[in-house]
Amino acid sequence: MLTQKEAVHESSLPVSADGIARLLAEAAPLRRREAFALLKVLSPRRRLTVSEAARLIATDDPMVWETAAAMARSVREEVFGRRVVLFAPLYLSNVCGNNCLYCGFRRDNPEAKRITLSPEQAAAEARFLERKGFHRLLLVTGEHPAMTQATYIADTLRAIYRGTGMRILHVNAAPMPVDALREIKEAGAGVFQVFQETYHPETYAAMHPSGRKADYAWRITCMDRAMEAGFGDVGVGALLGLYDWRFEVLSVIRHAEHLLEKFGTFPHTISVPRFKKAIGSPLSAAPYPVSDAAFERIVILYRLAVPPAGVVVTTREPAALREKVLDLGASQISAGSKTDPGGYAEGKRRHESEQFTVSDTRPVEAIVRMVLARGYIPSLCTSCYRKRRTGHAFTEMAIGGNIRGFCLPNALLSLAEYAVAADDDALRAECLAAVEAGKRGMEGSPLAAAFENKLGRVLAGERDLHF
Ligand code: SF4
Repeated sequence: MLTQKEAVHESSLPVSADGIARLLAEAAPLRRREAFALLKVLSPRRRLTVSEAARLIATDDPMVWETAAAMARSVREEVFGRRVVLFAPLYLSNVCGNNCLYCGFRRDNPEAKRITLSPEQAAAEARFLERKGFHRLLLVTGEHPAMTQATYIADTLRAIYRGTGMRILHVNAAPMPVDALREIKEAGAGVFQVFQETYHPETYAAMHPSGRKADYAWRITCMDRAMEAGFGDVGVGALLGLYDWRFEVLSVIRHAEHLLEKFGTFPHTISVPRFKKAIGSPLSAAPYPVSDAAFERIVILYRLAVPPAGVVVTTREPAALREKVLDLGASQISAGSKTDPGGYAEGKRRHESEQFTVSDTRPVEAIVRMVLARGYIPSLCTSCYRKRRTGHAFTEMAIGGNIRGFCLPNALLSLAEYAVAADDDALRAECLAAVEAGKRGMEGSPLAAAFENKLGRVLAGERDLHF
């Protein structure tokens, strides 16, 4: 399955592609009673293993999946309660030395209008997003040996922290050596994300014909290097649609297990990007299309197999599906996104500079309203990164059911802060009513008295109060 060069290292890779293929081929469907018995015992501590996930994937019984969905909802609530974290991506550069067949940033895309933001321009974009209420951003770059290296990313992180009130910045960038990753970490990055795109080596080779990214092994080992560089929190994912989703999902779960076994922590986030046609890219449709029904199963599987992970759904997905998967275990969503560098301040869409076309184009305010209407609490919280509840400590607390006790007060404080700053009177009133209703969940909490105190201070105009 692997190229000769990769085969040399296969035993040291975090995920064995042959092992995943074997698991899929040999997994027997679960009988209904067997499935119910398994699903009933799942919890944040008793997660679905990769072998059990393979058997669940092989099962096509709607009643089993209904029960799995209910369990995913319950596990999500045991870990995080009813908060939904909102974030925005900030695209820094669409200059890239790779030629990924599915991406608008690819080197040979003649239609792309190339933009690389200076650190100061990135800070201006961040200020725009700060005015929208965001305190956490995901910085995204293409992979270019001269334009988007570690020093550029580190300088940009420092410029944004210096020039805005942003509280935590995560990074989605190319795989790098340990010293480069350390430079980014030391500049204040929270989570470091690299998506493998596809874990299937032959598909990987076909999709990434040239550039640094053609090296499968270099990419799949990046999370290990990030951990060595001091990142307690990393983000993984597969671009769904390049190969059989069943293979990709089992590989991501196995990757998560590898990180737990080797570093004592699950990935902090698992993203579920689904293929979208990009302008100027040769791949006009997903080779292995993922239906909405399969997408829902993927979210359920990630929640049950990696309970502490933030399952992240972006604006690639249509509005209705994004709303539905909140009830199936998704816990983080982007809002009001632009995928062209400089696109926020620019204000109008520049398709020729986008990585992909956004489906859910609703503004942040509409997303806040939607989350509230579905009975969840929109959260702009960043406290775990700043209180050092990260990496192994976070994983332990999450599987012990001890994170949600922080999520609720922090979500309510961040929502109250958002409401105080909102220009829209009706939106402010809706948010404050949700804070008032949410306070009931604090009854009996050891943080109740301190929470009341902090909430009063936030409503009086203080900012950035959290636990
Ligand atoms: S308390 Fe921690 S896990 Fe919960 S929303 Fe805040 S940062 Fe995230």
